[in-house]
Amino acid sequence: MPETDTHAHMAAAVYTGGGSMAVQRRPIPRPGADQVRIEVARCGICGTDLHLVLEHYARPGSVLGHEWCGRIAELGDGVEGWAVGDRVVAGPRHGCGACRACRTGRPAVCRQRGAAEYFSPDGAFAEYVLVDATRLIAVPDEVDDRAAALTEPLAVVLHALTLAAPQPGDRVLVTGAGPLGLLVVAALRARGIEHITVSEPAPLRRTQAERVGASRTLEPVELPEPPMGEPVADAYDIAFECSGRADAATAALGQLDRAGILVVLGTGSEAPRFNHNRMIVLELTAIGSYNYDDGGFRDALALLASGALPIGDLLDPDDVALDGVFDAIVGSADGRRRGKVLVDPSAKQETRTV
Ligand SMILES: [Zn+2]
Ligand SMILES: [Zn+2]
Repeated sequence: MPETDTHAHMAAAVYTGGGSMAVQRRPIPRPGADQVRIEVARCGICGTDLHLVLEHYARPGSVLGHEWCGRIAELGDGVEGWAVGDRVVAGPRHGCGACRACRTGRPAVCRQRGAAEYFSPDGAFAEYVLVDATRLIAVPDEVDDRAAALTEPLAVVLHALTLAAPQPGDRVLVTGAGPLGLLVVAALRARGIEHITVSEPAPLRRTQAERVGASRTLEPVELPEPPMGEPVADAYDIAFECSGRADAATAALGQLDRAGILVVLGTGSEAPRFNHNRMIVLELTAIGSYNYDDGGFRDALALLASGALPIGDLLDPDDVALDGVFDAIVGSADGRRRGKVLVDPSAKQETRTV
């Protein structure tokens, strides 16, 4: 397609409202000053995308997809230091450095930060996406396109590890072995944490958790009911809640030892109940984890390049074309997919784009 053809179109998987999606033709976006146009190589389906589509939070007409990697296809005016063809991901905008959150070392929740990226109407379940050049980060050669699509979710996971600061020897519980939980297990393992129990109802996902490094898996019903004012027999120092389920978050808090930390990563529409008496008596901490560490994308790329992660077991083996996004979202929500599903916008579609 000639670069000069301003009427050229691309295919995009568009949220059409009412919990459904369709592939539509959209004008190819043109980069403004200091922007680049990226040809999307792969874009991961995030748990957030599941909620946005299946629970109807997305704006009709919007294109989701924020876990992408790709190649620079066009440079806007004033962009320097990058060339067409460069393989890149895009990191977050920096914190302001001045607000209370930034001053206390929490730029992830900078008070000047705009709306979350995944609410943006022009995401990467499309052939092309625009991005500010200041956000570009080069992908090392050792990290292929499929692995590079894990950069954003891995940066999310590394931030949760920063907040919880697990030490070798700590006993860790992970609730939920969807793509996020699997990444947490693999990242913990890469940090030398060996005592990792995963609670997950789906047998397929329990097996997958073992493959990526869980030392033990169990069904949620096997987690003991906590006695009043005391830790359970097999208590944990840290729990990572990755399922987004209210009952899982409640159960995870109940499994903590004295001074234990619950890190909540999985979003969900139903709110958990936390026993405040238990939090008081055992001095428990519950903390939400959102966004990334400063430099989190570079740390994620370095970890992906290190070879320490079982990339093949973290990803679902079957990438999907744009017209397969909706089915993959449903399959990820009901547990049929056993890892992170990647969208390949250049893959041949079975249905014609309208
Ligand atoms: Zn995500
Ligand atoms: Zn700030």
